[in-house]
Amino acid sequence: MTKIGDDQIQLASGENLPYDTLVYAVGSGASNENRGYRVVSEPEAERLRAALAEAPDAPVTIVGAGLTGVELAGALREAGRAVKLVSTAPNRRAIRAHLRFLAKQGVEIELGRRVDPAELDGLVVDTTGFTVPGLAADSGLPVDEFGRLLVDERLTVSGHPNILGAGDAVHLESPSYLRAACATALPMGAHAADVITARRQGKPGEAFGMGYVLQCTDLGSGRGRVQFLHPDDTERAIAIDGRAGGLVKETICRMSVRWLTQERERAGRYSWPAGA
Ligand SMILES: Cc1cc2nc3c(=O)[nH]c(=O)nc-3n(C[C@H](O)[C@H](O)[C@H](O)COP(=O)(O)OP(=O)(O)OC[C@H]3O[C@@H](n4cnc5c(N)ncnc54)[C@H](O)[C@@H]3O)c2cc1C
Repeated sequence: MTKIGDDQIQLASGENLPYDTLVYAVGSGASNENRGYRVVSEPEAERLRAALAEAPDAPVTIVGAGLTGVELAGALREAGRAVKLVSTAPNRRAIRAHLRFLAKQGVEIELGRRVDPAELDGLVVDTTGFTVPGLAADSGLPVDEFGRLLVDERLTVSGHPNILGAGDAVHLESPSYLRAACATALPMGAHAADVITARRQGKPGEAFGMGYVLQCTDLGSGRGRVQFLHPDDTERAIAIDGRAGGLVKETICRMSVRWLTQERERAGRYSWPAGA
């Protein structure tokens, strides 16, 4: 899809495809800047895999200690790689706990430094964040400062009642604590479908709401951490660490695929926790 019109989309082939209702769910990915290797998509991850295979003894520098950087550091360390993780200081307790674990596994960690991945030598992986496609902005739809499509509480674009949005590429004012995640995109996508169904029945649909429960991280070597959350995404005092944490993380990864297939088998089966 290359452009969104009022009642049709333009495909890369140049062909136009008419629509009654459109759900904008194009997700997030890497910017076009050349800033080292990344793992934001399968082709990018394959590119890194090939570079690692070509230089089996080369140390790897990861820039950015978010969840992607942390999980990648754990996986590479598990594979026996020398890993250095450079980042600005993390603001979440769970990330600080992950970094303590990684340091014990032999990952060199340098915090409090903002670096440009393009200026570092060697095998560098940029995990400093995602950007969203410019499709909404290029189509003249309302977007925020990051190019995310603006939607209201019914996940609908103001002035475009037949366009809804869900997932990483979308921004809504309330709830204000939403972050880009599979844990957010799944309920949003399901709710967009609910709004469309309600409208077909002559109802307006309900306002979107959701709360967080867990944030799970894979730290490599079969270990992980499950951080319990308040619905507004702030951290609770409880977490499950070690092998039990790794097992829960693995189970949740499998469940997220199962939720999709179960919903296909019986519509309306998928549900999610209420908002804060
Ligand atoms: C390495 C990695 C690990 C992650 N781990 C976790 C995790 O443990 N927990 C968690 O909650 N989240 C995790 N995430 C984040 C999670 O994957 C995303 O938040 C989630 O996939 C967003 O869902 P989405 O539907 O908005 O977009 P996506 O899943 O990105 O889907 C968007 C789709 O739209 C397609 N698309 C884009 N542009 C166009 C276009 N112009 N025309 C047609 N199609 C288009 C894309 O190719 C893609 O298939 C991880 C992400 C990465 C990269």
